[in-house]
Amino acid sequence: MLRTISIICLFLFNTMSGLCQSQQLTHLGKYITLQSLGSGAYIYTCSNFEFPSNGLIYIAGNEALLVDAPDGAGIVDSLLGWIKNTQHADVKAVVVTHWHQQDRMGGIDAINKAGLTSYCSDKTLEEAKKHKRAHPSSGFKDSLWLNIGDKKVLCKYPGEGHTRDNIVVWLPAEKVLFGGCLVKDAKAQNLGYTEDANLKAWPKTVKNVLRSFPDAAIVVPGHFNYGSKDLLYYTIELLERK
Ligand SMILES: [Zn+2]
Repeated sequence: MLRTISIICLFLFNTMSGLCQSQQLTHLGKYITLQSLGSGAYIYTCSNFEFPSNGLIYIAGNEALLVDAPDGAGIVDSLLGWIKNTQHADVKAVVVTHWHQQDRMGGIDAINKAGLTSYCSDKTLEEAKKHKRAHPSSGFKDSLWLNIGDKKVLCKYPGEGHTRDNIVVWLPAEKVLFGGCLVKDAKAQNLGYTEDANLKAWPKTVKNVLRSFPDAAIVVPGHFNYGSKDLLYYTIELLERK
């Protein structure tokens, strides 16, 4: 009997968490969907390229943080417009999580044109300069704390993985960890694009992330559905499976 009840509970929980991932979706133009995580944190998903990619928006009071600046289709302008017109917040900071253009840094021109302050790791600045790309205005070495409204945000460089410069972004008040492309989704069958990856360092880097953020309740991968800390364990498993 107990077993039956727990199976039913598990089924309901799975169904409900599945619904949570598909409810509360806001469509912004043709290519962007926004998914609320509650308390001012939103995952935005862009589908103007082959793979949908995730970024993050965090609203606290009348200030906002935008994580990543995807390329093309006026994505950045649409996101900035949504923050200003529907959330009535000013973008205090933009953070780019690695140097790849399509899903992370290709829209930084629009950010710079808007006169916004933007950050990335020092290594991202190096890569951008090496590839002669427009880049964020400031770099940091290991970590950077930002104040957004009355909330704190930590940007942290945990080591090499998907790229040599990838960072993660932590919202302590919400226990949300944006892992970006360092973290794979639960259905991923491979590591995706690995031309610029450090496959040897990657598992150790994810273990660093696990050690740094033991309280993470929601983990957002660079592509596809968010999950729990299990995504970090699963990424390590995929790396060890290869
Ligand atoms: Zn990438």
